[in-house]
Amino acid sequence: MTLIRNTKSIKAEDGIVTVNGWAQDIRNLGGISFLTLRDRFGTVQVTMPKKKIEPGLFEMLTTLSRESAVSVTGEVKASNQTALGFEIIPMSAEVVSEAAVPLPMGVVDKVNVEMDTRLNHRFMDIRKPEIKAIFELKSIMFELIGEACRENGFVQVSTPKINSSGAEGGATLFKVDYFGRDAYLAQSPQLYKQILMSTGLDRVFEMSPAFRAENSNTNRHVTEFVSFDGEMSWISSEEEVMSMIEKIVDHVLKGIRERGAEQLAVLGKDIGIPAVPYPRLTYEECLEMVREGGLDIKDGDDLGTEGEKIVGDRMSSKGFDLYFICEYPEDAKPFYIMEKDGTPYSYSFDLDYRGQEISSGGQREHRIDRLVARMQKKGLDPKDFEFYLEAFRYGMPSHGGWGIGTERLLVKMLDLPNIREAILFPRDVSRLSP
Ligand code: ATP
Ligand code: MG
Repeated sequence: MTLIRNTKSIKAEDGIVTVNGWAQDIRNLGGISFLTLRDRFGTVQVTMPKKKIEPGLFEMLTTLSRESAVSVTGEVKASNQTALGFEIIPMSAEVVSEAAVPLPMGVVDKVNVEMDTRLNHRFMDIRKPEIKAIFELKSIMFELIGEACRENGFVQVSTPKINSSGAEGGATLFKVDYFGRDAYLAQSPQLYKQILMSTGLDRVFEMSPAFRAENSNTNRHVTEFVSFDGEMSWISSEEEVMSMIEKIVDHVLKGIRERGAEQLAVLGKDIGIPAVPYPRLTYEECLEMVREGGLDIKDGDDLGTEGEKIVGDRMSSKGFDLYFICEYPEDAKPFYIMEKDGTPYSYSFDLDYRGQEISSGGQREHRIDRLVARMQKKGLDPKDFEFYLEAFRYGMPSHGGWGIGTERLLVKMLDLPNIREAILFPRDVSRLSP
């Protein structure tokens, strides 16, 4: 007897096998019954000719509630009636855990279920092959990111998520009570990955949760996401950072296409691989496109969701899905970004994917007096950042880096309608459970 972990791996000549899974569908035609058993990888048909099956077993398998967890042992028989070319004739079975009736939502029903209902019963939602595939692809994406970073000499690090100050602006900080003191959930590893540049760990990356108190309901913001951050030392311009991201994203896209072929097929999707290098637009060029598109944006203002979309449509029409937007006004960028002297701009960039920002990055200000001046200009008190500033006083290399929202990358790659589709248990303004 062989224990099968993957229904896809069963062969007609396997003999007697045990298969574990969920009872997806049961059809009782009187003289013969069929049970469709689903595991992570697919489904297999358990065929029960009434006369040939022990009555107790027949009764048990034909009265199972849908989605019960079962273990079936039986003989594999060739069959030209099934898609796989074989079926299983059961000899014994165990109901591991029976599913209550009715189900909170169907797994294979072709009815449209609201996203809220799906998220409320997410364990059931993820039983659907096309939902499960997204998370298998996410796992492959993480593997590919790690691979590309290591190939390029990056060290994987973990930095604290409970902190005494934030880096990305006060409005999106989550305050927590830390034994009577105020603490904040990390919005990004920004300050720590920069401190690490002064340690000699000259290239670091991190993939970990970032928390943003985004008090708005959009299809691309959540309050907790997995941020992929990189930081590299001794750079001479932000261009070096951009070409590193390009290399990594290209590796991810190609790898997903290859290693995720099975999951992409389940989703009925293919992904395009944009040619490297990705175009570099300047903020000013984008501003012009946005204004031509009929949107009135003031000099120095953020392009905004609508603006980004206009640029995205323009770039897509020219065949470019991924492109950098460079030289943002320094005013629009955080304190740690380096200003472009004698201009209102900065050595910063965003990477946009079909009209949506997936990454921000740039060259950082490594000269302490300039850094402190920028903090003050932004209304921040350098005293709150002393632990960070100290690392700039004793030999800080020039450096730069990026933060990529991994779920935004996945959502754009797979053309999903909402960032929540790429998060197992999303957190947003109104959702804290499951
Ligand atoms: P946006 O303007 O789209 O709100 P941002 O400029 O505030 O994003 P950054 O601080 O630049 O975001 O963060 C780096 C990356 O992290 C973003 O490019 C995005 O991919 C991701 N990210 C930021 N905020 C969120 C969020 N609330 N939910 C999911 N991903 C996010
Ligand atoms: Mg940004």
